[in-house]
Amino acid sequence: MHLARFPRRFVAHLPTPLERMDRLSEVLGGPEIWIKRDDCTGLSTGGNKTRKLEFLMAEALEQGADMVITQGATQSNHARQTAAFAARLGLGCHLLLEDRTGSNDPNYNGNGNVLLDYLHGATTEKHPGGTDMAAEMEAVAETLRAKGRKVYVIPGGGSNPVGALGYVNCAYELLGQCNDRGLRIDHIVTATGSAGTQAGLITGLKAINAGIPLLGFGVRAPKEKQEENVFALAARTADLLGCSGVVGRADVVADSSYVGAGYGIPREDTLEAVRMFAQLEGILLDPVYSGKAAAGLIDWCRKGRFKKGQRIVFIHTGGSAALFGYDGILR
Ligand SMILES: *Cc1c(COP(=O)(O)O)cnc(C)c1O
Repeated sequence: MHLARFPRRFVAHLPTPLERMDRLSEVLGGPEIWIKRDDCTGLSTGGNKTRKLEFLMAEALEQGADMVITQGATQSNHARQTAAFAARLGLGCHLLLEDRTGSNDPNYNGNGNVLLDYLHGATTEKHPGGTDMAAEMEAVAETLRAKGRKVYVIPGGGSNPVGALGYVNCAYELLGQCNDRGLRIDHIVTATGSAGTQAGLITGLKAINAGIPLLGFGVRAPKEKQEENVFALAARTADLLGCSGVVGRADVVADSSYVGAGYGIPREDTLEAVRMFAQLEGILLDPVYSGKAAAGLIDWCRKGRFKKGQRIVFIHTGGSAALFGYDGILR
């Protein structure tokens, strides 16, 4: 698969490390658990959006943009990485932030990713939960264009076929690391939200015939809806790559059992997962995405759905900056 034919702006620290989690594996007493450190992509505390933005920002530059706009939740890691990437390129950045949790906590509303958005020089505007954010973005883009700005609109989470190329590349990178080290992998797991990460990974895995199943732990939508979103984006990503139809519906598997009350609202098992990774491995998860995915991973191990003799890779998608927006809940 020839990814170099797509424009790309190289910023991420790649390859991200692939490490064995000895103490977590031992405590759970089941499979050997490895972690792919996409929390270490290097840009403004890292995270999965940096891989997607390498392709999206290259397209923005190619189109002559002088600024980008995007949208996300108040504590959006995607918004923060977009603000940092734009700063790096000398582009303007405007962020539309949706209040999905209704939290009045001053840290949630001003610390963590929100503080970093501000430090990177992005401007922000807030919208109530349930707003049609894609429509809002188009309206804002039109207003800015009328004022003469050259605006590139990045969808929420950077999740379109161009952004998903970042995770096609991650699939190749991970397989290369496993092959180089002689590591046979039984299952890959990741958090799944706006779908670009899972869609890119499954497209990459299928395109190289990896033969490794992928499981996405949902953070918002119910299982069926999440799988449909991922499958639709994977199909479009495969079209872009010139391998249409490579992903079957059955290749897309999500489990949304660990979402709880809703997006951005941690459950007790989310907090337990955050503490376990912090105290057994010295690794910071987040309470919105990777904490819920890790709660799913831990539960699958405890229930024997992942078991002794297997080797599992957990893709750590980042998000630790959001911890500082949740200190009241975490203490
Ligand atoms: C955005 C995000 C995800 C989800 O990735 P999608 O591509 O939106 O599905 C997972 N973890 C973290 C920390 C994120 O910021």
